[in-house]
Amino acid sequence: MSSMITADTIRKILSDNINKEYSFSREEAIAIMNLPEEDMPFLMEVAGSLRKKYKGNYVSIHLLTNARSGNCSQNCAYCAQSCRSKADIEKYKWVDDEKLYSDNAFVHDNHLSRHCIGLSGMKFTDEDIEELAEKIRVMKADGTHLCCSIGFLTEKQALILKEAGLDRINHNLNSSRSYYHNICTTHTYEQRVNNIHMLQRLGFEICSGGIIGMGESKEDIVDMLLDLREIQPEALPINFLLPIPGTPLEHADTTVLTPSYCMKVLCLARLLVPQSDIRCAAGREVYFKGREKELLSVVDSIFASGYLTADGQGISDTIKTITDAGFVYEIESD
Ligand code: SF4
Repeated sequence: MSSMITADTIRKILSDNINKEYSFSREEAIAIMNLPEEDMPFLMEVAGSLRKKYKGNYVSIHLLTNARSGNCSQNCAYCAQSCRSKADIEKYKWVDDEKLYSDNAFVHDNHLSRHCIGLSGMKFTDEDIEELAEKIRVMKADGTHLCCSIGFLTEKQALILKEAGLDRINHNLNSSRSYYHNICTTHTYEQRVNNIHMLQRLGFEICSGGIIGMGESKEDIVDMLLDLREIQPEALPINFLLPIPGTPLEHADTTVLTPSYCMKVLCLARLLVPQSDIRCAAGREVYFKGREKELLSVVDSIFASGYLTADGQGISDTIKTITDAGFVYEIESD
């Protein structure tokens, strides 16, 4: 269903709220997604005013290490690590400690904002969690900020990781509640939301976002972002689908992912959850190539050196991209 709010009404709301937070309704958010191309510079200006207000000129850089790869029992359609995927990827239970710790030292030595550690799978044994906690203790000795992308934890397991020093957990919503069953049937959206709330109760910072380009509607994107507004994650990563051969979404139609459409989603994320670190994650190098300056005027966080099973821009090129665009990369580690 299309929005009843006119573009003129939205323009007026936006111009009344430059540099201010405003609680957009679902209909207003849908109307933003429907704004015509000629409104993009203004939309970016309004989103950019909030970016400046809360994040200044800084861009945080995150490095991702895939600590456990493949063999996942879940059937997330976009994921190369799922049991349903035939993608040709490396599969291992634990990445070599040498690689994990050298990545961590790299984050430390280059003063990157955070080391993100991805683990495939949805359920872990207590022994696995104890092993991970030990690795976290080693890495925290370097003073790096750590985030684990990990499935559903029990409270006991989450506390073990908290005591080991883990700062933040990534658990994405990925899509809207009503579209989720098209993406995954081995767990529910509700389980994801509940897991996030449990982690918040235990005092974890939360990184939670989604993937755009999986066949969802604009309304689905709005609904996901409104749920993220409820959650108020410290970081909100938006991924733009990179269809991976061998996954059910390998032939997904990504023609909708024009730079302008992708930018609109990021602007809406900024308008709805303005104080969060809005991150342009997977797809940045594809969908925003040559448009980094505009991109960074709205988002304040990116990855360097690739994604779980997809390559990305290396660290020195990433830093150059940031400085060439007139931004400074944030130095967070000790
Ligand atoms: S996204 Fe996570 S839970 Fe889903 S298949 Fe991939 S590794 Fe498993």
